[in-house]
Amino acid sequence: DYAQRSSVSWLSFEPHMLKDTRDELEIQGQLRKAIHDSEFKLAFQPKVDANSGELIGAEALLRWSTGDNQFISPAKFIPIAEKYGLINAIGQLILHQSLAQQARWIEDKLHLRLSINLSPYQLEQPDLVETIAALLKKYNVPPDTICFEITESAAMLRPQLTIEKLRKLRQLGVELSIDDFGTGYSSLSLLHTLPIHELKIDRSFVQSIRTGSLPIIRASIQMAKDLRIRTVAEGIESEDERVCMVACGVDELQGYLISMPLFGDAFTTFAINHKQVSHASIV
Ligand code: C2E
Ligand code: MG
Ligand code: MG
Ligand code: MG
Repeated sequence: DYAQRSSVSWLSFEPHMLKDTRDELEIQGQLRKAIHDSEFKLAFQPKVDANSGELIGAEALLRWSTGDNQFISPAKFIPIAEKYGLINAIGQLILHQSLAQQARWIEDKLHLRLSINLSPYQLEQPDLVETIAALLKKYNVPPDTICFEITESAAMLRPQLTIEKLRKLRQLGVELSIDDFGTGYSSLSLLHTLPIHELKIDRSFVQSIRTGSLPIIRASIQMAKDLRIRTVAEGIESEDERVCMVACGVDELQGYLISMPLFGDAFTTFAINHKQVSHASIV
């Protein structure tokens, strides 16, 4: 019975693998061209204070259009870029664009914490810390206005290397965040050795509040508070989820309920309108 099942699944598995590989190779070729032609853009998703609603930050999210306003999801193409050794080149473009944007916002008196995602392959790059230090100087961006997000599972790939790199990054004065927290099986003892400022509670927990994740969310937030680590709830889509996370004591909120990720000008408009709204509600 077991043999039969496994041979059936093998037969249906193989064609699927072939298709993925063809897709992958095609995307890989398009990625090389996209890097060469700088076809990537960044969208920025607002992060607000959970209690006051005040806009306090933004996360830079990579967007790649293959023409006709068709976007390929970074969840799909970043793993391919990682697999084919292209992520460092893309990471460089992201760093330049993010820091240039932050410099413009500072010039416009918009003081936000800008979060930038880092791939585990970027952490392995020997000159990552020096590169970031040089770019902060080049764009004249204060280090403490930048926060780097590393997913929990990436941090766990090579914990010793991660700790070492994060310590060096922290010495630059930038902030550090563990992304998708709760999905990466990190040991709790590792958590207090990581020099981090922020934990982002994964959307999968927010989505399953009504079906049992509440104790885990509460415990994560309490633990973070005891470790003096800020918490962010990601993927807030409903008022119900917002109210629940605020009641749990989370510090910041991010998600479609607050705003979709926005391109530069749309983000500036959001920031201006948002200021007026929160000001009006105080007066
Ligand atoms: P992430 O860093 O956890 O980013 C959050 C993802 O959730 C984003 O997807 C965002 O658009 C989406 N999101 C935000 N609010 C909501 C919501 O309320 N509901 C739902 N359903 N989704 C929401 P996106 O932009 O497709 O990015 C997916 C992942 O790709 C990111 O997850 C991150 O791991 C990676 N990624 C994106 N940009 C970059 C980048 O510049 N560098 C690297 N290394 N990775 C990136
Ligand atoms: Mg992130
Ligand atoms: Mg996340
Ligand atoms: Mg997530």
